[in-house]
Amino acid sequence: MPKILESATFTLGNGKPVKIPIGQFINNEFVDSVSGKRMDVYNPATGKVIGQVSEADAADVDLAVKAARAAYEKDNRSWGFMQHGRRGALLNKLADLIEANQEELAAIEATDTGKLYKDAYSKDFAGVIATLRYYAGWADKITGKTYNVIPGIHAYSKYEPIGVCGQIIPWNFPAAMFSWKIGPALATGNTIVIKSAETTPLSALKMCEYIKEAGFPPGTVNLITGLGYTAGQAIADHMDVDKVAFTGSGPVGRKIMETAAKTNLKRVTLELGGKSPNIIFDDAKSAKDAAEWAFFGIQMNMGQVCTAGSRILVQEGIADEFTKEFVKLMESVKLGDPFDDSSTHGPLNSSVHFDRVQGWVETGRKEGADTPVCGKDMRKELGGGYFITPTVFTNVKKDSQILSNEVFGPVVSIQTFKTEAEAIAEANRTTYGLASAVFSSNNERLLRMNEAIRAGTVWNNVYNFAHFGVPFGGYKQSGIGRENADAALFNYLETKSVVANMGYVRSPYASL
Ligand code: NAD
Repeated sequence: MPKILESATFTLGNGKPVKIPIGQFINNEFVDSVSGKRMDVYNPATGKVIGQVSEADAADVDLAVKAARAAYEKDNRSWGFMQHGRRGALLNKLADLIEANQEELAAIEATDTGKLYKDAYSKDFAGVIATLRYYAGWADKITGKTYNVIPGIHAYSKYEPIGVCGQIIPWNFPAAMFSWKIGPALATGNTIVIKSAETTPLSALKMCEYIKEAGFPPGTVNLITGLGYTAGQAIADHMDVDKVAFTGSGPVGRKIMETAAKTNLKRVTLELGGKSPNIIFDDAKSAKDAAEWAFFGIQMNMGQVCTAGSRILVQEGIADEFTKEFVKLMESVKLGDPFDDSSTHGPLNSSVHFDRVQGWVETGRKEGADTPVCGKDMRKELGGGYFITPTVFTNVKKDSQILSNEVFGPVVSIQTFKTEAEAIAEANRTTYGLASAVFSSNNERLLRMNEAIRAGTVWNNVYNFAHFGVPFGGYKQSGIGRENADAALFNYLETKSVVANMGYVRSPYASL
């Protein structure tokens, strides 16, 4: 095993120095990567490097998988075969430790991602704690079923953990995605090799300190910090990983499925992107209410949300009033330091992503859309952080790329429609199917729309309301499988059927 690495001191965006582990978390130790390589960690609000963590390759993934396998199979004290209630108790203990350190963890998250500190504290980490407690509760409630449908045969099914699960998470909600992934996988008895995104390793590293402190058996959770095409690919490639759960972009999701097919047919679940329609009817409660939700729908986390309401479809009768209200809100955005209480929005997460978002703003303009609000590069004005103001496109041509591609930033289009049928057709005119929303005070219309929209979530008179207690995931090319609620448990379970002869069923070949 490579040598143990000491934690390093990172100065957070609020000026506070904090010790954070920088090694690969394998077998409950933070160890150097086999290659000894390091990767820089940036503060997106300043564009400056604030430290380094170790960088994993395939060799480190292999060590982590071996640790996870041993923790799964070792003996009856190991994770896979432990008393289920004990698993729940450990998940609760982890939630308690995270809660006791919520301020520091939220400060780490705000520094690493660029999101506002107040959001990281009251939304992201409140969610992490609640999610872990929710799945702690499930740990001893996963039972089987009986299928007594054949005379003389007692048949039952039992649910068993899949084994060693690889989990690959993105940078927009690093801590929340960590909890969405480890919560159900641990509650069901799997062991884990999880990889954080290259730009946001810090909150996961710090939470692994608490995994050790809580008393999880060594090897139950292993964290890899590294690049996607090396360390992430190595997880997908590994012959002893039984399942990969991935959240990220479509092209990488496809690659993971392809790799699973070429290696050991590991189970694959995917949470991918979206181009979600937010549909506002003339009979919505008010133009102002719909505009406020639409604003939250696209500006939450600076638009870096897979469910972002990036295609607003508004009925002609309310369109002018809605657009006026919505534009006013988009212009009110106050970009600034994520730790400054007066900031309403922070920077994008990385310079690579900044260039991507700016590129889409340019594309939309070249395609001829109008821009009542147009994304402005604020990097110079705001001290080098990856700040960009929001963009609203109107009069967008139907075949334009800006309507079909996910931007993953504060960029939104507004289209108008006349009839309900037109709204449904336009809402479903996408390869994605992650989320959607309908604003109307007509309940029958809402019910019709809820049936007609091809998406994993349809919000009614609300937007961006994902909750750990409600299934979440995509139709079409937005993914495979569901996270959250009881649905996520089945991403991590195999069903075993036991078919038992009650003593009098004779073989078809029994002598007559
Ligand atoms: P990405 O797919 O490039 O990266 C996501 C993760 O995959 C990272 O940890 C990365 O290191 C890893 N990765 C990259 N290449 C890999 C490979 N070849 N093999 C294995 N792992 C690899 O995506 P991104 O640009 O970091 O994130 C933005 C995308 O994620 C958007 O499209 C967004 O919609 C999607 N997303 C979806 C959800 C959801 O729940 N549906 C949530 C957040 C983000």
